[in-house]
Amino acid sequence: MSDQEAVLDIQGLSVDYGVGADAVHAVVDVSLRLARGEVLGLAGESGSGKSTLAYAVTRLLRAPGVITGGQAWFAVDDGPAVDLMAADAHQLRKLRWSEISVVFQSAMHALNPVMRIGRQLSDVIRAHRPGLSSSELKQRAVRLLGLVGIDGDRLGSYPHELSGGMRQRVMIAMALALEPKVVIMDEPTTALDVVTQREILEELIGLRDRLGFSVLFITHDLSLLIELADSIAVMYAGRLVERAPARTLFDSPCHPYTYGLRGSFPALSGERSRMTGIPGSPPDLRNVPSGCAFHPRCGYALEQCRHDTPKLLQLAGGTADRSVACWLHDGDRTPPAELTDHPPVVEAGNTVGGAA
Ligand code: ATP
Ligand code: SF4
Ligand code: MG
Repeated sequence: MSDQEAVLDIQGLSVDYGVGADAVHAVVDVSLRLARGEVLGLAGESGSGKSTLAYAVTRLLRAPGVITGGQAWFAVDDGPAVDLMAADAHQLRKLRWSEISVVFQSAMHALNPVMRIGRQLSDVIRAHRPGLSSSELKQRAVRLLGLVGIDGDRLGSYPHELSGGMRQRVMIAMALALEPKVVIMDEPTTALDVVTQREILEELIGLRDRLGFSVLFITHDLSLLIELADSIAVMYAGRLVERAPARTLFDSPCHPYTYGLRGSFPALSGERSRMTGIPGSPPDLRNVPSGCAFHPRCGYALEQCRHDTPKLLQLAGGTADRSVACWLHDGDRTPPAELTDHPPVVEAGNTVGGAA
């Protein structure tokens, strides 16, 4: 890997569902780098390929999903980086849970209903640290529950005795059990009420600060990421369309889709005045529009947008952590002021290029 800081470096990843002419291109040529200790948010509407990316990177993708190209380099401390896309079952077993772990949206339903949670936590630890005694296992399980704000005497509880929020906390504790370097969280709190969601996310950030792991946090809710993430990547119809530091992306989105997405959600703590949304709906990936897939919904679309697909490129005059895939930012063109790094101050209530 060229960048020593990157713990996960995804390069040109493509994933299809099905093969041949009927294949759905759910992830197309995605490159994404997660630095050590970074919380990277991945945002985008439903069906944009976020979960597919998570399943592919962790090699949990099931048929008819097929990884059709790309690499995902994972930095290991005691040797060369491992390409997760080429790793064999033995390498994957060694890395899962202990180096890279995942919490999925429905994770709380993944707990075994007839097994006490203490036992479920101990099982994860024991599988990777077989030398520990049962009292050491118990100590670790209690400490883990403590990390996510659950009292140790809950070790003896069955999942049905816990609230949804507590069950999801247990899943997060499991994901952290072996102190992995990377935790991938796919909508980990979406099923929970806003207050519980907020509590869990605050705890998560506290844990990241203490333990130093990196997080790839997937959500359709951009406003959540503003409070949580260091940087944000936005996905549309299987492709990355913008990537920037979180605050920059929110204050001055350069892609018309990001601009619209920002207007689609209220801030967790804020009012709803910004909720103007994006006209139309995301495309059916079996029939993606030609050129820039966003063009039928984009109020700024140029003729070129209908037939040429823009690449994700570093923003002209911007820093290396700022890239966008949009013809408005190509070459000598001058993008509209609201889609630049220094947008004019706008009162609440934006629309996408006046298309709404
Ligand atoms: P959401 O926000 O709803 O979770 P997402 O961004 O995670 O959406 P994915 O679940 O990755 O999106 O799905 C991306 C696309 O891949 C979908 O639009 C769908 O067309 C296709 N897809 C997903 N799962 C399958 C499957 N098992 N078989 C065929 N196509 C699939
Ligand atoms: Fe809109 Fe064209 Fe930019 Fe796509 S490339 S977002 S259609 S202006
Ligand atoms: Mg998903």
